[in-house]
Amino acid sequence: MAPKLRHSIAALLLILLSVTLSAQTPAPRGVKVTLDRYSGPATVTAVSLGKFKLRVQVERNGESQPLNVHVELPATGRDTWPANDVEVRDETGTALVVHRTGIEWEKLLVPVADNAGAFIVQALEPPIAVPRTRSDKDRVIQDAVSGAQVRIANWPQGRVAALSIRFDDSHPTHLSKAVPILREYGFKGTFMVNPGPKEPGSRQNYTFQTQQAEWEALMKQGDMELANHSAHHRGAKGDEDMDREIGSAAEAIWKLTPGKSKLMALNLGGGTRWETTGTLRHYLDKYHQFDASSGSLGMDDSYGRRVEAFRKALETHLSRGLWCRVHYHYIGEGLSSSEANFRAALDIAKQHQDKLWIAGMADIYKYRRLRILGGLVRAM
Ligand SMILES: [Zn+2]
Repeated sequence: MAPKLRHSIAALLLILLSVTLSAQTPAPRGVKVTLDRYSGPATVTAVSLGKFKLRVQVERNGESQPLNVHVELPATGRDTWPANDVEVRDETGTALVVHRTGIEWEKLLVPVADNAGAFIVQALEPPIAVPRTRSDKDRVIQDAVSGAQVRIANWPQGRVAALSIRFDDSHPTHLSKAVPILREYGFKGTFMVNPGPKEPGSRQNYTFQTQQAEWEALMKQGDMELANHSAHHRGAKGDEDMDREIGSAAEAIWKLTPGKSKLMALNLGGGTRWETTGTLRHYLDKYHQFDASSGSLGMDDSYGRRVEAFRKALETHLSRGLWCRVHYHYIGEGLSSSEANFRAALDIAKQHQDKLWIAGMADIYKYRRLRILGGLVRAM
């Protein structure tokens, strides 16, 4: 065997061995802890310290290069962590900077300090206990003798399910296409905007800012809703930057909706990177936002067969009495969603209109929260 080939086989075996070893890292209740993009002598282990608390220990074993620990918390199923309430502290109690991507808050990247290799990952109790949304079962009354079920209406005016239609990135086609078409159907849309302003040194244009007067006029009509997609869709480096990215966008939106509820949906944007010592909950509560980063059906044509996917999603949500969320980017020929496909989906929503509450995301969120709280009060 040629020495070169022998070398590469040995290297391959080493990689396989390290992959196997890292897969064997103790993973308390579905949590995955690994060294990020690393093979070498350093190792990482994790032990559970409580329900939503674990200690991570890195042994450098002579490794001198910078190390990052990747912690992935279960986002579905029985062991789901409340990822928005999670923070990381070193053993002296100092909060550490954690890197995350905008719409996957359950995946944490923690840079390891040179002089300390241990840290604690934990979920804080939210300041106001957030009731879990599992009350939908309670809303079905079953006759013990016949087994017949009657579903109590979950939504206003006896509607069976709710539908929100979201548009991301404040694109000009939202004003020129989406709004007039939604009005034809009599539907409310939620527009998730990046209000900017343009930053020094950036070549990015912020169409929300250049079309400010049109957005203002739109909000005066009051039939559409705005939501927060961060000021610049670029992530943030540090707590202050993150506070500004969320806070200044919220302020810009509140300015256009004076006297209205401050509550709005927040989605930090796909492909963005956020570095903060804080929990996402801290920013959500500070600016009256609720997290809208998951559970939405992407409607870009590139995902394929979107009209069918929408029909299926809507039927599922109708059968379960739930909130169906979809989101678009740009509307028009050759853009993310063609006008024909956009209209085809709205036609399907129209067919179900008598059973559907089609509303803004904040409207639906607020109603559902009141319903759950109301249910709790009645249960007490
Ligand atoms: Zn976006």
